[in-house]
Amino acid sequence: MADLAELYQQVIIEHSRSPRNFRRLPDANRTAQGDNPLCGDHIDLFVRVEGDRITDIGFQDAGVNGRSCAISRASASLMTGAVQGRTAAEAERLFAAVHDMLTGSSGGADPKTLGKLAALGGVRQFPSRVKCASLSWHALRAALKGDGAPVSTESAKD
Ligand code: ZN
Repeated sequence: MADLAELYQQVIIEHSRSPRNFRRLPDANRTAQGDNPLCGDHIDLFVRVEGDRITDIGFQDAGVNGRSCAISRASASLMTGAVQGRTAAEAERLFAAVHDMLTGSSGGADPKTLGKLAALGGVRQFPSRVKCASLSWHALRAALKGDGAPVSTESAKD
């Protein structure tokens, strides 16, 4: 298990240094902003939805305090990679699986379902960082709902 933990840590570090989909989308038709005041993380999420499918997605994470923390950034990088090309319903199921993994509320999701997202599982040992890891997912849910209201981890139930 030590090797697996090390591998997961490397995935987090690599994604925080070289985030995927780290860009604004000029043709986004859904956007959301999210804040995690506990850590100072911020995300601007840009989503292109066609029909029911997420055809493109990108994010930026510079907030008033500068850039977001490594876990928040790596999580957004992994999240955008995982939901690209998926339907909103599939993205919602992934959100549920990640949420269960982060909170341990259902004994952990099947790593096979999660793929690279399983790397976020190590965050569970650091309860104060769970909101860093879930911020981008809350922003995604807000973007797909499309009401344009900013989200904060402090107003989310989790
Ligand atoms: Zn953070």
